[in-house]
Amino acid sequence: MSLENKVAIITGAARGIGFAVAKRFVMDGAKVVIADVDDSAGEAAAEDLKGLGEATYIHCNVAERLDVRNLVAETLNAYGDIDVLVNNAGIVAGADFLDLEVEDFDRVLSINLRGSFLCSQAVARHMVEKVQDGGEPGCIINMSSINAVVAIPNQVPYCVSKGGISQLTKVSALSLAQYGIRVNAIGPGSIMTDMLASVNSDKAAKNRILSRTPMLRIGEASEIAGVAAFLASPDASYVTGQTIFADGGRLPLNYTVAVPE
Ligand code: NAP
Repeated sequence: MSLENKVAIITGAARGIGFAVAKRFVMDGAKVVIADVDDSAGEAAAEDLKGLGEATYIHCNVAERLDVRNLVAETLNAYGDIDVLVNNAGIVAGADFLDLEVEDFDRVLSINLRGSFLCSQAVARHMVEKVQDGGEPGCIINMSSINAVVAIPNQVPYCVSKGGISQLTKVSALSLAQYGIRVNAIGPGSIMTDMLASVNSDKAAKNRILSRTPMLRIGEASEIAGVAAFLASPDASYVTGQTIFADGGRLPLNYTVAVPE
């Protein structure tokens, strides 16, 4: 298995895309740390995966420096190493540009962007030390979005945060390349998780999404997990500083496609 005995931290992994990545990594042989703020869902997620392999839950608000420090310390205590970090925790705050509260702007940026920076820096320090001691380099994967490139007018902080993730991916990849540590991102299109649950009961909203999706379907979380598994594996050993968009063809599309009834 491609991640046999690797130790992976995945933030925001109590549910959704993060949980799918955790499940795929456990199936690929990794020991997985699920880091989240929802303790009951996080504990249940780890319990769920224990049948497949090694998984544990650690409480961590990625926006809090002490929580992040504790996440790294507890992971090293439990497994003695960290090979892969997936910065997946993310939230949205919808509001028109003219009405958006600065507190909501700060809250989204502090989790989506500052949280990814804090986790990356803390884990990268461990990874660099390991390389300097003769160990193998690890890798970091950031969960970006198509909204790093295209924007939604009432998702101001979310789009800004994902634009920032693009540059965080590039700048940390360049800084860590000298140690062989790779940093990449995944840019999902519309994926069926709680974040998108409202479109299930809203036909017009679903049609709006499909009309911008040449593959004419919403993606599954496991399809993002597959990209993460590739980026974490030795098959991606010469890939760094990239964002792979898994979006059913949305970004290359100009205008819309016809949605069958
Ligand atoms: P989700 O279902 O809402 O799951 C996100 C998880 O992150 C939840 O368990 C959430 O806990 C947790 N979380 C929130 N704030 C946190 C914090 N401060 N520290 C640690 N964990 C925290 O979201 P998802 O749809 O799987 O999205 C995961 C990632 O993919 C996000 O970065 C998102 O931007 C990106 N993405 C998703 C889509 C999509 O269509 N779903 C598309 C593009 C990109 P609570 O529920 O308690 O807040």
